[in-house]
This record gives sequence, structure tokens and C-alpha cells, in this order.
Amino acid sequence: MNEETVIAIVEDDPNIADLVELYLRREGYRPYQATTGERALEIVEQRDPRLLLLDIGLAGDIDGLEVCRRVRATSAVPIIFLTARDDEVDRVLGLELGADDYVTKPFSPRELVARVKAILRRTEAAPTVTAAAIVAVGEHIVVDRGRREVTRRGQPVPLATREFDLLHHLAEHAGLALSRRQLIDGVWGHDWVGDDRTVDVHVRQLRRKLGPDLDLVTIWGVGYRLDA
Ligand code: CA
Repeated sequence: MNEETVIAIVEDDPNIADLVELYLRREGYRPYQATTGERALEIVEQRDPRLLLLDIGLAGDIDGLEVCRRVRATSAVPIIFLTARDDEVDRVLGLELGADDYVTKPFSPRELVARVKAILRRTEAAPTVTAAAIVAVGEHIVVDRGRREVTRRGQPVPLATREFDLLHHLAEHAGLALSRRQLIDGVWGHDWVGDDRTVDVHVRQLRRKLGPDLDLVTIWGVGYRLDA
């Protein structure tokens, strides 16, 4: 199945891109490289990748953040940002672009591949679709785990991978106050390295996309509780 799994590597440093490509090929993935934002968008259009590795600073007119914005307008494909500095991490999180994860350069290719696998496991898993896979959140929101689809008042709401996972996790634990750490463990995994701001950013996105129909309460000093 891996051989069919196309991954776009959007990176203008050929040393990094070639190294990442080598590691992905070893795992049986089919990587395509792009050194510009323009080329990245072509690959997304033509190859329908299952995941994007996205450098922020790119040669050419379209940087990584803009690639993410344009891709997100039509697709929820998982995106892992390759960031060069801490302030880029702040921009990725602050802009609420719906990134699924990020790694800071210099990164270990082994670690990056582990994250790629973790995200693909989550998104490519084909759960048995049963009635139980469909969870109502309040009166107007429905989370369909089988289809990985959320509807609000009957209309589909596009969510990024982690936004969906977070909402689903909250829905499964409706009525319970969950700490940011518990949410990170449950959604991103125990081995995820990053800080708690990520949870807040994703919560803000869920609130923005789902509006007042989402009864998500902030528990000060702790985390969040979804009332269903
Ligand atoms: Ca770069």
C-alpha cells in the first residue's frame, strides 16, 4: 500500500530534500520533490499526494505559508511544516493554517519519517463504518468517523486532520474536563514533541469553523470540556 502513497517534499534546499526523499523511499513511499511553491501546487493538483512536507522559505513568489493556504482552500491533506527557526514555529501556529505537525531544522530524518507514519496511520486507517462511528455533538453538529466528515446543520465543514481528531476525541469524552496534556496524548500521541499552544490553536480553529453550535468550554488553568 505504501508504494501508492505519494508524498510531496516541498523544500528548496536540495540536500535536505534528497535526504528526506531517500528515507521515504526506503520506507516504500513515493516522494515527489518541489523546490518552488508553484511546482508544489502542480504536484498537489496532478499527483494527489497523501501528505505534504512543506518548507516555509521557498525560492519564487509563493512561500510555504501561501502554499498551505491555497491547498487548505480545497483539501484537508495532512501537512507537516519544516521550519528553520523558532519564530517560524510561532508563525505557523499563530496563523492557524491548520498544519498537522511541524519539525524544526535541523531534524533527524528518522524522526520525520516516524511522524509521517504516525499521521498516515491516523488518516489512512479504514475504520469499519457503523452507526456507532457517528457521534452527535450538541444538536447541530455530527462527527462521522468512518467518512472523516463533520457536518453542521447538514452542511459539511472542512477540518484539517488534527482538528478532526481533536473534535472526535473531545466528543468521545463529552462532559469531562480534559487537560491540554491529556488532549495532546490522546490526539497527537505520547511521543509528540511540541507545546500546549498547539491545542489552543486547534481549539480556536474549531470554534471559528463551528461557531456557537459547538459547546466547548474553556476550563481555566486546565484545558477544555465539550458539552454534548
Ligand atoms: Ca528554504
